[in-house]
Amino acid sequence: IERNPGEPEFHQAVTEVLESLEVVLDRHPEYIKAGILERLVEPERQIIFRVPWVDDQGRVRVNRGFRVQFNSAIGPYKGGIRFHPSVYLGIIKFLAFEQVFKNSLTGMPIGGGKGGSDFDPKGKSEGEIMRFCQSFMTELFRHIGPDTDVPAGDIGVGAREIGYMFGQYKRLRNAFEGVLTGKGLTYGGSLVRKEATGYGLVYLTDQMVREKGKSIEGARVVISGSGNVAIYAAEKVMQMGGKVIAMSDSNGYVFDPDGIKLDTVKQLKEVERKRIREYADIHPRAEYHEGPAGIWEIPCDIALPCATQNELDGKAAKTLVANGCFAVAEGANMPCTPEAVDTFLSNNVLFAPGKAANAGGVATSALEMTQNSMRYSWTFEEVDAKLKQIMTNIYRNISAAAREYGHEGNLVVGANVAGFIKVAEAMMAQGVV
Ligand code: NDP
Repeated sequence: IERNPGEPEFHQAVTEVLESLEVVLDRHPEYIKAGILERLVEPERQIIFRVPWVDDQGRVRVNRGFRVQFNSAIGPYKGGIRFHPSVYLGIIKFLAFEQVFKNSLTGMPIGGGKGGSDFDPKGKSEGEIMRFCQSFMTELFRHIGPDTDVPAGDIGVGAREIGYMFGQYKRLRNAFEGVLTGKGLTYGGSLVRKEATGYGLVYLTDQMVREKGKSIEGARVVISGSGNVAIYAAEKVMQMGGKVIAMSDSNGYVFDPDGIKLDTVKQLKEVERKRIREYADIHPRAEYHEGPAGIWEIPCDIALPCATQNELDGKAAKTLVANGCFAVAEGANMPCTPEAVDTFLSNNVLFAPGKAANAGGVATSALEMTQNSMRYSWTFEEVDAKLKQIMTNIYRNISAAAREYGHEGNLVVGANVAGFIKVAEAMMAQGVV
């Protein structure tokens, strides 16, 4: 904490992981001697840069850009780019740290990194977004490459922003290469990438609840957020016969007793870039409430927090438990506070942590890298089948790790331990680097 002052999200993420690893270190004292933990919490490289751009009024604006290249023991750095006004070094470090373990869990050869900017895309024109993305890439390009570091999207960065950044990278390098994932389908993107995090979340949730004799079919599901992860989680829940009854954005939430109409959400959020509030104008039986946190008061069977970090606190967790919620899976990164996680675990609510539950996005990004290297594209069905298999393997591996290390059923411990061991072994083999 003294080495990294003022970075509470990073401290939170590191504390959660290190607490889980005690059971491993008892069995592997060689990791302690080799300084694995000290090296694991220190990013290999952190880049902070100026991003100047010109707004529509001709005024020069300046934002701050970040790329944290955290750990490359098992492959090139891989992780998204976030554009949101709350971004600062501590947020990017927490995300990059989580990414190391998540990427390890996918079974694919990818290390961990993350990047972003405090740029706020809300209310900006197309031209402003494009100029910002171009300026951001004008510095970032020298630090990344298809075998070095392959960024992707995250909050505020979707296919549009990836397209602008890819165009600028290609121009600067004079090379058409798979340096970003989440690209459009006409220029090297992969089918299923858009859907992958949400679909993968639901595939893993399905495994988790089925093992306890429960089902998504017929379940009432509350999903926070209405962005990329939330929309495709909702789509898969509905395909599996579940009923999504509420979704949100940073202003508030809608509750639709008849079940959310996803076409409306997609039109509002993906096409018109409007607020979730407008859903209730279109569907009069739906209710809109100001303030996103109230969504957790709606009685449900399964809760999927898919918006942002620390959006579900201890109080909200107690309410969910009291209302009979039996499973929670994190679509977002670290959406549940430590108090919320403790509440779920101590009340036997099935709980899947984000680094396992939302790993389908980066796994499919790795499949996009594979297709780019082969200069070949798989069909939707082929990629979806691979995604499903990866999520099944993740679930099996983290449950097995939890059992092996004496915490049966605790998938937080299972994910941290399983993700850690592969990285630690690779670091041991590569010497003190
Ligand atoms: P998007 O930008 O597409 O969507 C984020 C959504 O969350 C928006 O609807 C946003 O609303 C909403 N939101 C933000 N803050 C709050 C809040 N406090 N309460 C309720 N809603 C809120 O991002 P993604 O869907 O890509 O990412 C969501 C989460 O999933 C992040 O934690 C991200 O790191 C994680 N993730 C994403 C992956 C991906 O493939 N995209 C992969 C793995 C993890 P508004 O429009 O008002 O801002």
